[in-house]
Amino acid sequence: MGEPVNIPPIQPPRLRLHVIASGSKGNCSVIEDAATGECAVVDCGISFNAFRAGCEECGIDPSRVGAVLVTHEHTDHTKGLGVLTRGLARLGASPVVYASPAVHGASADLQAIQDAVDLRHFSAGDDISIGRVRAHAFRTSHDAAESFGFLFGCEGDAVGFMTDTGVVTGEAAEALSRCRILAIEANHDLEILAHGPYPAFLKARIAGEHGHLSNAQSADLLSTLLCDELECVVGMHVSLNNNDYRLPREALAAVLEREGHPARALVGFQSRPVSV
Ligand SMILES: [Zn+2]
Ligand SMILES: [Zn+2]
Repeated sequence: MGEPVNIPPIQPPRLRLHVIASGSKGNCSVIEDAATGECAVVDCGISFNAFRAGCEECGIDPSRVGAVLVTHEHTDHTKGLGVLTRGLARLGASPVVYASPAVHGASADLQAIQDAVDLRHFSAGDDISIGRVRAHAFRTSHDAAESFGFLFGCEGDAVGFMTDTGVVTGEAAEALSRCRILAIEANHDLEILAHGPYPAFLKARIAGEHGHLSNAQSADLLSTLLCDELECVVGMHVSLNNNDYRLPREALAAVLEREGHPARALVGFQSRPVSV
């Protein structure tokens, strides 16, 4: 028998990501502290019934939602904020709602709840504390008043979350560099978009610098973010009109295969929750 090998203990995952809904009909994800059950919601563009059903399917206790983070004011991310905060209040939860001042100013959905909830402002670079979890806000590039992604951290674990961005900003690339779970936008396939029914101005908007990341851009981004910690990448905000759920998963999986990386590639769906 040789000397005992000093293997670091395997740490149980600290954070879980639950994508309850993802896509232009409505977005809502939950970051859960696996040890405490405490949750942060990212965006709510779905009904409270859909949120509750998603929580049940994912094994989340909705009464443990301590914060709601708003990425930007587009209604597919905000139209359920009122029903969410009122519904959670009935369950005894009164989460703090976080938005940037510009997003607050541009969102009728946020203004409609501002007197009923604890609404706090954040700016790019801020770290928001939600129980033991820290959410670091970074700027994205989108046709909104302001837009953000988040890096969630807890005891060395890291989950990166970024949707609704036309390009990858420098601060996004930096924030997402050592994640165990990556949720990154893979909105459209350029070929399907080009040949699809949308008017030219809308096609240009979607593919532009302030639109959405394509499958190919998402795969390029993933290739720059591969690290030993990475276990799972989830393609997000997949378009029902300009994409096919198979394509972003294959594009992300191809990068992992090419690099011999053992991480899994998944996609988030519009109406079927995914937990990782
Ligand atoms: Zn969106
Ligand atoms: Zn948007």
